[in-house]
Amino acid sequence: MIRGLDCSHWQGTINWSLVKNDNIKFAFAKCTQGNSFKDAKYYNNKISCQANDILFGSYHFANGGDPIQEADFYVANIGALKKGELMCLDWEISHSNPVDWCKKFLDRVYSRSGVRPFLYTNEARVKSLNWKPVVDGNYGLWVAKYGINNGQMNTKPDTGAWDFYAIWQYTSKGSVKGITGNVDLDTYNGSLDSLKKYGVVTINEQSMGRKIAYPIDKVYITQNFGENPAIYKQFGLKGHNGMDFRTKFWDSPLGRRYVMASLSGVVIEIGNQGGAGYGIFIRLKHDGNEQTVYGHLYKTYVKVNQYVNKGQTIGLTDNTGFSTGAHLHLGYREKGWENKINNGYNGYSEPSFE
Ligand SMILES: [Zn+2]
Repeated sequence: MIRGLDCSHWQGTINWSLVKNDNIKFAFAKCTQGNSFKDAKYYNNKISCQANDILFGSYHFANGGDPIQEADFYVANIGALKKGELMCLDWEISHSNPVDWCKKFLDRVYSRSGVRPFLYTNEARVKSLNWKPVVDGNYGLWVAKYGINNGQMNTKPDTGAWDFYAIWQYTSKGSVKGITGNVDLDTYNGSLDSLKKYGVVTINEQSMGRKIAYPIDKVYITQNFGENPAIYKQFGLKGHNGMDFRTKFWDSPLGRRYVMASLSGVVIEIGNQGGAGYGIFIRLKHDGNEQTVYGHLYKTYVKVNQYVNKGQTIGLTDNTGFSTGAHLHLGYREKGWENKINNGYNGYSEPSFE
């Protein structure tokens, strides 16, 4: 178990080096609320906390408006994410459909940032609502239960649909050096290294094992690697040099679905080949020189040289380029393309998926 705290502008200016000396290993600071409020102390808290080598997390206080708008507002204001940096949804309001709201918010933040936020709420809500969709989405629980609220850990919280809690906020009357007045205290149910795994991971860690994530959320392969040699002969290929995914489903009649990065990496190319080739496409470069390319897109959400996390939304699918219907083309170059060794597929090979 390790010791942490959470704070907002209500704590005023915090002396983070004194906090560090008081054995605080992690800290969450309020970032945003609703779709317009930004905590005035957020950036100071983040920078000073990280400068003192305390694991940092941000949180968003839900107002219960449009969950997508609130999620986008939060992600737009967190600043650059460092390795291990954590995120959280703070759910403290009355609402007609809380679990559905939270799931939509959490999924949106995950697709935009690559980080699965914690869900923070109190024990009464944990027990009285069916959180299974959120549990199934792999979002960790941060639960508040104070008991007599005397600054100490009292009776452990119930965890409802979760098998265990990740973080327990055990008092709102904590006292920590470097902070004036009371502060919320938390304990993480494991080691600091395991807590970091809830946050952003690095390229190196993600590409070990060389399995890549599906770039789309409903997986239906319409054309496999190597298929249809007769069609691809005109391009000097032995066959289809990627994987095609269906994008038209009942909920996307135009075939527009979000594209997610199959591995973390850097955007090295965004192009538009008009009615030919990939049409609008994105190319990423990963650790170990691997490349992935995503073709026939409608639009892109990233810029060249931008770093993206695995699972992060990078584009929207369509039917641009050499394409006979809406779909997503994914190409994978395991050995990169620096030496341009043509294997009959312009260096592309069949990926293996997680
Ligand atoms: Zn294709």
